[in-house]
Amino acid sequence: MELLIETLSKQYSNGVQALNNVSLNIPQGMFGLLGPNGAGKSTLMRTIATLQKADSGSITWGELNILEQQEEMRKVLGYLPQEFGVYPRVSAEMMLDHIARLKGLSNRKERNETVSALLQKVNLYKERKRNLGTYSGGMKQRFGIAQALIGNPKILIVDEPTAGLDPAERNRFYNLLSEIGESTIVILSTHIVEDVKTLCKQFAIICSGEVMYVGTPHDAVKTLDGKIWSKAIDKHEIEDYREKYKVIATQLSEGKLFIRVVSDDNPGEGFTATEPSLEDVYFNAISAKVDLVTL
Ligand code: ADP
Repeated sequence: MELLIETLSKQYSNGVQALNNVSLNIPQGMFGLLGPNGAGKSTLMRTIATLQKADSGSITWGELNILEQQEEMRKVLGYLPQEFGVYPRVSAEMMLDHIARLKGLSNRKERNETVSALLQKVNLYKERKRNLGTYSGGMKQRFGIAQALIGNPKILIVDEPTAGLDPAERNRFYNLLSEIGESTIVILSTHIVEDVKTLCKQFAIICSGEVMYVGTPHDAVKTLDGKIWSKAIDKHEIEDYREKYKVIATQLSEGKLFIRVVSDDNPGEGFTATEPSLEDVYFNAISAKVDLVTL
């Protein structure tokens, strides 16, 4: 069953239009919400999670009208917020037990079983007696997933979960999420293209509150076939190139600046045709809204 978001808009009281007519169909599996800081990802996540209201539009999941039936939604929802604080002097096991009780698991035996199973699922069972304050960033995120999975949610929302994880931790976290995505709608917000490339069947690029692209990563890359051109230039020439071409990426290597340009035709001047990547799609999609020099 799909989660349907239709023409959702939200303006904060300071005048910021955080969501502008956002419409998305989110199927079962991992769905990536990719966008730079300030794009509106957290606003969208919090609205789906019933933690804040939209000005207009609707979110439905089957018969459930999420913006109106908040209690019902919360029964099927798991949420890992961006800022996930933990009590440092409490063990993972005790904390999970406490959250499970708050979520209504009153039967002690059932609760113990649930807590053990979740700790095993996120690979923290051996470390269950350790205080959360001693956990690494990756372990805390896995603990965050365990608490979000209490009650077997049908929709799991994870907001920027991989920021700050080292490569090994990120990999472990990817494996965990993709396993969960086999049976659940998982909405993953991120500004890291790699997250989407590795995990998501479908994704959307969101920028300045607007959806710039929706589809599969594979189809997204195909849209730029034959349109990416690269060249090594002198660092000082970059401003001229920016004026003349649509430069979507720059990378410094051994004193030379490698630039990537989007163009339907060969721009000439020593440019080489290059395979497009998902990064190209992302930077091309947001380039109209964001000054890429500052990214
Ligand atoms: P993201 O999660 O993609 O970084 P957010 O949804 O947090 O984006 O923010 C979208 C825009 O709304 C930003 O410009 C942000 O500064 C603004 N914003 C977010 N929360 C509030 C708030 N409570 N009050 C006013 N502006 C906000």
